[in-house]
Amino acid sequence: MSEEKSLNFIEEIIEADLESGKYKTILTRFPPEPNGYLHIGHAKSICLNFGLGLKYGGKTNLRFDDTNPVTEDTEYVESIKDDIRWLGFNWANEFYASDYFDQLYAFAIELIKKDLAYVDDISAEEMAILKGSPTEPGKNSPFRSRSIEENLALFTAMKEGKYKDGEKVLRAKIDMGHVNMLMRDPIIYRIKHAHHHRTGDKWCIYPMYDFAHGQSDSIENITHSICTLEFIPHRELYDWCIEKLNIFPSHQYEFARLNMTYTVMSKRKLLQLVNEGYVSGWDDPRMPTLSGFRRKGYTPESIRNFCDKIGVAKRENLIDISLLEFCLREELNKTSLRVMAVLDPVKLIITNYEDGKTEELISENGPEESMGSRTVPFSKELWVEREDFMEVPAKKWFRLAPGALVRLKSAYIVKCEGFTKDEAGNVTEIQCTYIPESKSGGDSSGISVKGTIHWVSAAQAINAEIRLYDRLFKAENPAAEEGDFKDNINPDSLQVINNAYIEPSLATATPDSRYQFLRKGYFCLDKDSTKEKLVFNRTVTLKDAWGKEVKRN
Ligand code: ATP
Ligand code: MG
Repeated sequence: MSEEKSLNFIEEIIEADLESGKYKTILTRFPPEPNGYLHIGHAKSICLNFGLGLKYGGKTNLRFDDTNPVTEDTEYVESIKDDIRWLGFNWANEFYASDYFDQLYAFAIELIKKDLAYVDDISAEEMAILKGSPTEPGKNSPFRSRSIEENLALFTAMKEGKYKDGEKVLRAKIDMGHVNMLMRDPIIYRIKHAHHHRTGDKWCIYPMYDFAHGQSDSIENITHSICTLEFIPHRELYDWCIEKLNIFPSHQYEFARLNMTYTVMSKRKLLQLVNEGYVSGWDDPRMPTLSGFRRKGYTPESIRNFCDKIGVAKRENLIDISLLEFCLREELNKTSLRVMAVLDPVKLIITNYEDGKTEELISENGPEESMGSRTVPFSKELWVEREDFMEVPAKKWFRLAPGALVRLKSAYIVKCEGFTKDEAGNVTEIQCTYIPESKSGGDSSGISVKGTIHWVSAAQAINAEIRLYDRLFKAENPAAEEGDFKDNINPDSLQVINNAYIEPSLATATPDSRYQFLRKGYFCLDKDSTKEKLVFNRTVTLKDAWGKEVKRN
């Protein structure tokens, strides 16, 4: 078991409820609206809800909150299920709020019969005026005193499609002078002549969130209904509906939503990025969606660890994305396969190495012996990283420079004897000699060098495309900036390298594998890869370059 951790406030409530016998077992739910892909904020809610179910021997339902026919789609339903499974959780039941439309309709009829709901004909504008303000009570609508019979007839006619969108609504009859504005006769049903992705054209009236959510919880016997802080004012209405309908008393608890630096976290905003072409899709590796993180190479473990580390707060805050990256590095450092890839290649010729000869050198796959080793071909012509050579070396430069010695990883020590430049002054070739006795694993040269660089053998190397990602936004909290949040997009968030060379073992790379390209970061195979061209995404750099930069300034 992990180290002793203090309980979060929801766990405290649950333990008290179990101890007092209020519930024998707990049932939580994750209730996404299928109007977009899940983002890292949803992961927080998933880990919390499913985590509680697991911790307390209870269960968790997946319930699609599909009461808004216009924005919802089955594509989203499938992606949401995929993402939850990928995160490592299983739901006890898959439900849809739309499965309850008949029941919810019956609840509405019941409220009308109890004189607790009425059909209102006033316009949205009039309704807003009559609603009052936080400091001023509202006024009753002239239609508030309709008889039960008339309300039943009108509501039935609404259901039968006798009216146009917006012509009538059903409102709960509560109190137009209530201090909580949401309790001032909230709309509970509206007319919407729209095709629903599950119920088709059966309905032209749809329940509002507040009339669907609590009742759906209750229908499923959810014990602890956990949502984000903005729903605090809704709790009163949630409780009112349950009380008046005299149904299973589910309870709502609120926690602070996850906000993260350098990104946005609302599906509406993310949809804009997709629709307006700022990213290649919902699973663009720069997106904060779970599918984006997955494609970028994030692991479910790293995201679960992150959610665990940030805990469950009662107050809104902004979490540093470096914490998520830290969780990821911590894992990839242990598990990723070490390989060699040269992203900005320059030729290195070993002048005293036999023409046409190839040696298969052994290289470790990772820090653990259990990860094994592989062979990498070595020959006279190699690719090395352009930045590993300096014509005029800086102080403490331990890499390639005229006259300098350096070790080629898992191979030999070489001495730089010269280099060639083109007319533009770019280095086109570096000439070295190698020391045959210095072979890694059996070095008898007696020479010690400070620098080790990575390389690939030119004849066997595979040409690959490498995609390097940076933050999608320049501003720490783009949604809080003035103006359009998209004005803060980082124009350099994607860098595509077309002519990288990777070691031949990567020919059989699989999408599930995680690689550390030595000294370059963690990478994974992208779904755009073809037989002709492998494409790799950089998942994360080896170190937190941003953190360092801040310190330097
Ligand atoms: P968005 O504003 O991104 O569209 P939403 O709250 O409308 O989010 P839903 O599909 O309704 O999205 O959310 C499903 C569940 O996930 C809800 O219980 C919601 O409270 C929770 N959730 C959504 N965003 C976050 C977040 N940033 N942090 C924690 N939980 C979240
Ligand atoms: Mg929502």
